[in-house]
Amino acid sequence: MSRFFSGKYAALEPYVPGEQPRERKYVKLNTNESPYPPSTLLAERVQEQCPLLNLYSDPECTVLRGKLAAHLGVRAENVLPTNGSDEALNFAFMAFGDGEHPFAFADITYGFYPVFCAINGVSYEEIPLREDFSIGLADYAGIGKNIVIANPNAPTGIALPRAELERVVASNPDSVVVIDEAYVDFGAESCVSLIDRYDNLLVTQTFSKSRSLAGARLGFAVGCAELIADLNTVKYSTNPYNVNRMTMTAGAAALDDDGYYMANCREIAATRDYVSRELRKLGFELTDSRTNFVFCRAPGVSGAEMYAELRARGVLVRHFDKPRITDYNRVSIGTREQMDLFLDAVRDILNQRGGTTV
Ligand code: PMP
Repeated sequence: MSRFFSGKYAALEPYVPGEQPRERKYVKLNTNESPYPPSTLLAERVQEQCPLLNLYSDPECTVLRGKLAAHLGVRAENVLPTNGSDEALNFAFMAFGDGEHPFAFADITYGFYPVFCAINGVSYEEIPLREDFSIGLADYAGIGKNIVIANPNAPTGIALPRAELERVVASNPDSVVVIDEAYVDFGAESCVSLIDRYDNLLVTQTFSKSRSLAGARLGFAVGCAELIADLNTVKYSTNPYNVNRMTMTAGAAALDDDGYYMANCREIAATRDYVSRELRKLGFELTDSRTNFVFCRAPGVSGAEMYAELRARGVLVRHFDKPRITDYNRVSIGTREQMDLFLDAVRDILNQRGGTTV
């Protein structure tokens, strides 16, 4: 820390993103990226933008916003494209939270929420997940605080039905409820269709997972026009050109090729179910994931050891060293070939431990 660093950030503990190693080629299952490249349409369209890079991007994201609105069945005024959904979430904490308007979220959920609170001076309450890692929605009924719920949740992968989330939204009419749907395309119910009925509901989604664009940084928020206007006030006060020309074009091209991406999602879901079955056969405990990752506990091997042993065999997964989940690892779903390499590595580790052939 330099002697100039502002005291307002002195206690800030930044979010730690998953590793993006350069030194060795890993089977990379640690940051929930899609294993499939974007469709070819995207490359053509993005290339057309290169000669135009001397010009700023459209701050209103008109074309992309129109396509997104049509895709989601809402109006353009209900959508705000952002630099990854992290930015949409940050805008929401900035716009709706402060010392008097706290946020509530699960104790085991996306690790960026407390960081967004800390940097924006937002107080927060962590509500423990139940013993089986499910979110106890009764804990959120009428609590009179802003709420953020990841659905499906991360890193557990567990999804809640829309009807139950609607009850949380309806029971907190004077607070904003943010539903973070980063993983919704892999088999959960979206709350987007509820935004016309609730002026306190904000939904965020991303192109990073289901649409193979993690490296382009594109996400969006959906909500009533007034909530989106508040987010726009924050956006125009920080970075009006938050989505660059190439990314905007890439996002629009992805929506034009929706069939390709949704087929990939189905493939990933099928691979996830295959990996889950194989891991259960090996004695692993797993949550019921509706995402592009599994959250699993190995029999007789600690989470940290399993992470290290997999890494030594060239497979990178994510281990969170947090009290209730330290025995678990989060494993992103790659191609069937990648997952067979992962399963081979797991069998090898268990064999070495037990001295028997699994
Ligand atoms: N929400 C959740 C639950 C996530 O896991 C992630 C990915 N780290 C994000 C939001 C943000 O993703 P992105 O900024 O790439 O859209």
